[in-house]
Amino acid sequence: MSRFFSDKYKTLVPYTPGEQPRDMKYIKLNTNESPFSPSPKAIAAANEAAKSLQLYPDPTASELHKKLAALYGARETQVITGNGSDEVLNFAFMAFCDKAHPARFADITYGFYSVFAEINGVPYTEIPLNDDFTINTADYIGKNETIFIANPNAPTGIALSRDEIEAIVKSNSDSVVVIDEAYVDFGAESAVPLIKKYDNLLVTQTFSKSRSMAGARLGVAVGSADLIQDLNTIKYSTNPYNINRMTMAAAIGVLEDEEYTAANCAAIVNNRAYTAERMAKMGFEMTESLTNFIFAKHEKIGGAELYTELRRRGILVRHFSKPKLDAYNRITIGSAEQMKTLCDTLEEILKER
Ligand code: PMP
Repeated sequence: MSRFFSDKYKTLVPYTPGEQPRDMKYIKLNTNESPFSPSPKAIAAANEAAKSLQLYPDPTASELHKKLAALYGARETQVITGNGSDEVLNFAFMAFCDKAHPARFADITYGFYSVFAEINGVPYTEIPLNDDFTINTADYIGKNETIFIANPNAPTGIALSRDEIEAIVKSNSDSVVVIDEAYVDFGAESAVPLIKKYDNLLVTQTFSKSRSMAGARLGVAVGSADLIQDLNTIKYSTNPYNINRMTMAAAIGVLEDEEYTAANCAAIVNNRAYTAERMAKMGFEMTESLTNFIFAKHEKIGGAELYTELRRRGILVRHFSKPKLDAYNRITIGSAEQMKTLCDTLEEILKER
């Protein structure tokens, strides 16, 4: 730390992103990326957009927002995009949390929420999950705090139903409820249809997973026009050109290729079922994941040890050292071939025990 670092941030512990190693070629199952390339339409559109990179992008992202509004059955004024959903989530912490509106989220959830709360000086409460990693919805009913729920949750993969989300949103009418749907396209119910009914609901999604665009950085928030206006106040006070031209073009391209996204999601769901079945046969205990990852532990081998054994064999998964999580690993669902290699390797490791 330099002697110039602001007092405000001296105790800040930043988020640790998953490894992006360059020492060798791994089967990369550690950051929940898609194993599939972006849609050819996205690639062609980004190439075309590269020719105009001397110009700033459209700060209103109007063409993209029109397409997203159509996708969500909303108006353009109900949509905002960010540099990854990380950015829109940070905007939501900035816009909707303060001492009178503290944040509330699970103790086991997306690790960035507490970092966003800390960097914005927002008070927050972390609510323990049940022992089986499910959310106790009663912990979020009638709290009138700004609630953040990843649905499905990470790293557990477990989802609440739309009815359960609705009960939470309805009972907190004087505060904002943010539903982070980064993984919703792999089998869970989206809360987006509820935005018509509730002006305190904000739903975020990402192009990083089901749309194979993690490297382009694009996230979306959809909600009432008033909530979106507040987020725009934050955006125009920090980074009006937050979506670059190539990303914007690629996103428009992928939205014109919904069959491609649907086929990739179906493949991931298939590969998840294959992997879960084989891992169950090996004796792994897993949560009921509706995402593009599996969260698993085995009584014969500790989480950190399994992570290391897989890494030695060229497979990267994500291990979290937090006490409640350290027996587990979070394993991204990749291509059929990658999943076969993973399962064969797991069998080999277990055979040695
Ligand atoms: N929410 C959750 C639950 C996530 O796991 C992630 C991915 N790390 C994000 C949001 C952020 O994704 P991105 O910024 O790539 O949209």
